[in-house]
Amino acid sequence: MKPLEKSRADSGLLDAPSIFDAKSGRITINGREIAFGGPLPRLGEGEKLIAYTTSLCPYCYRVLPAVIFEREGKVFIKRTCPEHGTIEELYFSSSRLYHRFMRFEEEGIGVTPHVKLRSPCPFNCGLCPRHKNHTALANLVVTNRCDLSCWYCFFYAEKVGYVYEPSLEQIREMIRQYRKEGVSMAVQITGGEPTLRPDLPEIIRLLKEEGVTHIQLNTHGVTFARMWFEEGVEAAVKYARVLREAGLNTVYMSFDGVTPRANPKNHWEAPYTLEVFRKAGVTSVVLVPTVIKSINDGELGDIIRFAAKHIDVVRGVNFQPVSLTGRMRRDVREKYRVTIPDVLQWVEEQTDGQIPAESWFPIPVAAKFSYFIEALSGELKVCMGNHPACGSATYVFIERGADGLPSRFIPITSFFDVEGFIEYIEEKTGELRKTEDALFSRFRKTLQAASILKDLPKFIDREKLPQGLNITKLLMNVFIKRNYEALGQLHYKMLFLGNMHFMDLYNYDVERVMRCNIHYLSPDGRVIPFCAYNVLNDIYRDNILWKYRIGLDEYKKRYGEKSVGPGVKYVRNIKLLKSTPIYYEAYKGIVPDSVLKGGAAKS
Ligand code: SF4
Ligand code: SF4
Repeated sequence: MKPLEKSRADSGLLDAPSIFDAKSGRITINGREIAFGGPLPRLGEGEKLIAYTTSLCPYCYRVLPAVIFEREGKVFIKRTCPEHGTIEELYFSSSRLYHRFMRFEEEGIGVTPHVKLRSPCPFNCGLCPRHKNHTALANLVVTNRCDLSCWYCFFYAEKVGYVYEPSLEQIREMIRQYRKEGVSMAVQITGGEPTLRPDLPEIIRLLKEEGVTHIQLNTHGVTFARMWFEEGVEAAVKYARVLREAGLNTVYMSFDGVTPRANPKNHWEAPYTLEVFRKAGVTSVVLVPTVIKSINDGELGDIIRFAAKHIDVVRGVNFQPVSLTGRMRRDVREKYRVTIPDVLQWVEEQTDGQIPAESWFPIPVAAKFSYFIEALSGELKVCMGNHPACGSATYVFIERGADGLPSRFIPITSFFDVEGFIEYIEEKTGELRKTEDALFSRFRKTLQAASILKDLPKFIDREKLPQGLNITKLLMNVFIKRNYEALGQLHYKMLFLGNMHFMDLYNYDVERVMRCNIHYLSPDGRVIPFCAYNVLNDIYRDNILWKYRIGLDEYKKRYGEKSVGPGVKYVRNIKLLKSTPIYYEAYKGIVPDSVLKGGAAKS
């Protein structure tokens, strides 16, 4: 019997990672004691209460009652630690947008838990019986090795002093654990840099074999450009093709800006990487910019234009406001802090108002569509019931000028009444759920599908509909075919824009992490929500990685001198990367030649 099966044997659930002593009010986890409870923070003059919640002290992790309140048009979170005082942080920089988003809040549908319930949230991960949403995307860390050494990263092998690299057998076990949740499985292979693992195609095939329906690769993309110059274009294309043929669906590629200043990570390599993907038929790339105030906040519009220019391979952009790690003074936090309304405002300003903040909807809107599809088909494939403050999304149609460059963005809300359609879908879901008789139910469901077809045009403004877009057909495909390809077809017509704001210790809201559906798989069988795994990293992530580590010397002995340490690191040759037209073509019309030729930041 494997250890995982053994510890489950008594109750079917794994042991909780912590214990809670109600008498002393203390949680013990990984040998660390954490206090529970504290005074309710007071509101000051001009502060209006929105909600009570639970938060943590960023310094001692004490679990504290907290208030979410508004002041001068912004939303804040505040708690008072008996030891460290009152800690207040910006939560959402527009109270108007906050209230609009919260109208779409969902409670979640609960989970098939993996661990017993012993302690208060978030020290019982997971998933524990209290968690509100099953996994919609499982992060699978396949290595912590990386050939870059970004200054802000605390995670790569040389920095922590060991390698974490689960075996194929461990990966299979983790996926089987995930499968117990009983929903469609989507996995993001992440790192470190996953392409450093020579058996990456095998990992992808293994995931397919185990029934994973969506596989995405989180990468800096540099590997493909590196291969281009070190081994030749054909070798790079062949590698990308092997990954695609193994079953890779989507590439999530870091891309922090269009200029070298905003994107020192892969500005020079990205053009070659996209060209490799183009040649290899890898046509579902999502660009992932981490948005940091005063670093790249002025380039969001250009990132969207860059994505639109490369829409033959780029499906969307997913902005991630920075999560402030480590201890930070309040004035420093204020300098860098970005929340979702800031991103929406900058996108609006930098696209000349073509993509207004009103065209974005919070992620739980997707849950309403899942409920409808569930009521119609009887199966729940996946439910996105995250907290509305965690993320939002929209779709934009692109018009092009004579030069082929994007000339205008038309958000879906300008020709489709999204809010009206959501209300309509909720009503239909209610009607379908009332239908209990099986035979009658099948008949009713067919009628409902037909009535949607009839009603759909009511929500479409034909005059504003972009030319060449048959939205009725696309949406009917999503509802009637109810398959991944139908949604994929929508993605090829329009650019997906999203944002996901992962929390940090200063803005931590336990209500949010309880609804999380982006989780991490651990070799010990636990499934841990993103904002517990990475924010309480010393409790969760670092512990797991340490437990399953291989020493650097041992790793080198097994896999060679160039597998980790200085030997694995990428040495950039900017002159070489700028020596072909591919580099200039990729940015043409978006970044001035003077910037590309000079390598300086765009002013
Ligand atoms: S975050 Fe979820 S899994 Fe973790 S303790 Fe809270 S409810 Fe349980
Ligand atoms: S590319 Fe990612 S994993 Fe690698 S050092 Fe940078 S942040 Fe860390």
